[in-house]
Amino acid sequence: MTDMITSAGWVVTGIEDRNKPTILENGAVLSRDGAIVATGSVDELLRLSPHATRRHYGDHVMLPGFVNAHHHVGMTPLQLGSPDHALELWFASRIPARKLDLYLDTLYSAFEMIASGITTVAHIHGWMSGGYEAIHGAATKVLDAYRTIGMRASYSYAVREQNRLVYEADEDFCARLPEPLAGRLATYLQSQVLSFDGYMKLFDQLTAENAGQGLTRIQLAPANLHWVTDESLVEMNARSLKHGVPMHMHLLETAYQKEYARRRTGKTAVRHLYDLGVLSPRMTLGHGVWLNQEDIEIAADTGTCVCHNCSSNFRLRSGVAPLNRFEAHGLNVGMGLDEAGINDDRDMLQEMRLVLRAHRVPGMDDAEVPSCGQVLRMATEGGAKTTAFGTEIGRLEPGRRMDAVLINWKTATYPFQDPDVPMLDALIQRAKQNAVDAVMVDGKVIYEEGRFTNIDRDAILEEIARHYAAPRTEEETARRQLGHDVFPHVKAFYNGYLDAEERVPFYAPSSSI
Ligand SMILES: [Zn+2]
Repeated sequence: MTDMITSAGWVVTGIEDRNKPTILENGAVLSRDGAIVATGSVDELLRLSPHATRRHYGDHVMLPGFVNAHHHVGMTPLQLGSPDHALELWFASRIPARKLDLYLDTLYSAFEMIASGITTVAHIHGWMSGGYEAIHGAATKVLDAYRTIGMRASYSYAVREQNRLVYEADEDFCARLPEPLAGRLATYLQSQVLSFDGYMKLFDQLTAENAGQGLTRIQLAPANLHWVTDESLVEMNARSLKHGVPMHMHLLETAYQKEYARRRTGKTAVRHLYDLGVLSPRMTLGHGVWLNQEDIEIAADTGTCVCHNCSSNFRLRSGVAPLNRFEAHGLNVGMGLDEAGINDDRDMLQEMRLVLRAHRVPGMDDAEVPSCGQVLRMATEGGAKTTAFGTEIGRLEPGRRMDAVLINWKTATYPFQDPDVPMLDALIQRAKQNAVDAVMVDGKVIYEEGRFTNIDRDAILEEIARHYAAPRTEEETARRQLGHDVFPHVKAFYNGYLDAEERVPFYAPSSSI
């Protein structure tokens, strides 16, 4: 049994409501084998455990570790040659992406996440070729990378059964392409096919292999409405209930997806999911940019969560999610960096500020716009609830895991910060990555003063650089050509898909986002 007392200038144990953080000044956390036993003053905790090992961060604010509730890949699409197109075109632009060993790829983004205070990630994997064994092998490498670096991951392999490239059947789309392009694309899309039973077998196998693992858990992910059948959604919901694991589903990311749902179901995507009986607190809707008022009310009534991917929505021209409406209706909202944030990296401190600023509509009532407490809650407890770790993380309170980030107040605010601004408000608005001095998971320090405890970042980055220094393989060259050849046809598919009105959100854009 290892008792540890970690003390700091301030300990933010959690956010009670959007404007009320609980802050212990000169506070401390007593943890035992990585689980929080008590919080209070150092003296109080020493009485509970006189021989505990002590760590003291006098200049620091200790916060619950951040949760990146929506993540896919390590190397970013932009790094791999894909500019910020509209989402539907961007899928096509990613066909040429060069490959990298997924252990290295996963570590690459884990370095960025941890350095910005993220301790848990929802890793939504997918889009693999090569069949069951190749996918299982890749999933194993991803999970192994997180365990090696010491970070928590809620892993899913996203179920994609149909409409792999555009919002219609693969066969129908390929049939309208000229040969030999049609055949080349059909072969490429076929290489990603896995039966629904295969997806569920993978879930079962990974669940069994990760049983008893503290850092890695397996959850479910119907990739998006257009990618799955109604039968599969119902089946996945039953499994989610049986195994007590959440589901994460991209939904209504773009106006085109809103129109797809109308064409397929005759109603909104959310209404359709509700009618299928798959909405509950176990379901998280990724993006949710195009929910309308009734959809938001359905989400509120069913306890359905939303993951707000603010940077991604800007970058891929998806629109601005009605976050202020989500908040007004009491939805649980997490925060996701998706492929990459606004600086093409995974910086949760910056993402919190982006969310704080993106929804500041004109007016004078502070209740209408995001608060610092609200965005911190989204980045901690809100995101935690959407993962397989649920209420075991997200706050620094007894019974939860000791996952924390220590931000140096002096570094963040040097040379001055007027104390009239509440401490947490100043911290959220001013702290950059250089102020993140330590990150711990299960009470173990995995990052301190710019160095990773369990792994040599420089050596891994060097290995990645060496890999990409080699020329494209023959397979990569062929795939690059395929991506370029198919791109204009994807663009043509969406020509006229929407009328002008459908691009306008239900809310007045400047008044309630
Ligand atoms: Zn995504």
